[in-house]
Amino acid sequence: MKEGIHPDYKECKVTCACGNTFMTLSNNSEMRVDVCSECHPFFTGQQKFANRGGRIEKFKNKYNL
Ligand SMILES: [Zn+2]
Repeated sequence: MKEGIHPDYKECKVTCACGNTFMTLSNNSEMRVDVCSECHPFFTGQQKFANRGGRIEKFKNKYNL
């Protein structure tokens, strides 16, 4: 990339809901995400966070199912 033509991009600290943090480039200096490459089932092959706070759970809680 040429210097000086991407004025707003800077290092961005991304904090995931799983506790993982990593750096990327963004307009913001900090970001929060629900899933990252460390905890997303697609990458991990696990279901660790797959149903956390999902719509089905909220529905069940709402109607005491
Ligand atoms: Zn994560």
